[in-house]
Amino acid sequence: MTAMIEVTAVNKHFGDAHVLRDVNLEVAAGEVVVVVGPSGSGKSTLCRCLNRLETVTSGEVRIDGRPLPREGRELARLRSEVGMVFQSFNLFGHRTILDNVALGPIHVGKRDKARARADGLELLERVGIADQAGKYPAQLSGGQQQRAAIARALAMRPKVMLFDEPTSALDPEMVSEVLDVMVGLAADGMTMVVVTHEMGFARRAADRVVFMDSGQIVESGSPDEFFTDARSERARTFLAKVL
Ligand code: ADP
Ligand code: MG
Repeated sequence: MTAMIEVTAVNKHFGDAHVLRDVNLEVAAGEVVVVVGPSGSGKSTLCRCLNRLETVTSGEVRIDGRPLPREGRELARLRSEVGMVFQSFNLFGHRTILDNVALGPIHVGKRDKARARADGLELLERVGIADQAGKYPAQLSGGQQQRAAIARALAMRPKVMLFDEPTSALDPEMVSEVLDVMVGLAADGMTMVVVTHEMGFARRAADRVVFMDSGQIVESGSPDEFFTDARSERARTFLAKVL
């Protein structure tokens, strides 16, 4: 089995705060890992270290066998290989939905414009919002905007997709339309790291659940193991609150 993501002995400090503590994590190609844990436990920081939005203080992160590049062209390539979807949709407000999806491939990927737009429409189809292609982000519902953000990340043809609480900012009735797209991606074999409080998604789509607390990975196991047989007191306390 090839590891798509390898996190080895990673530590991260923000000033005096020791936010990631000796974190080790391997994610196989095609694996879906759901990361759960209390607020402030380091989930977002871990995600951000995977695409180098943050640098690690010590340790190493490899994507598809290669250490994270420091800067320049190599870093831009990494960013396109590791797609990220955030809680806030971060679409360009003054661009149409299709532009949002096609601009990355055109400018960063140096792809042919007509081709990028055709591919973009196909991706919008895949996330179920092809009919919104000509609209601006503010004209879409939150769920539609988040699906556009997923299409935008996919347009770069990433090897890995990171999701950091992608449904936390959505009205409840829009959560499932976004999760359904993610379940589809998982079924198509995308390597995914998903930070979420949606335990239903974890049960449905995760190959593995990782529980973090105070900057450490405290447990890692199948959804079944985690939900029915969490070993640590910290995980049990967490589960009692979210289930
Ligand atoms: P989670 O996503 O699990 O809620 P975070 O990774 O966002 O946790 O944060 C982990 C810890 O790191 C928190 O104590 C947070 O305050 C701190 N932290 C995160 N980002 C920064 C930053 N840029 N500067 C200083 N502290 C930060
Ligand atoms: Mg977070």
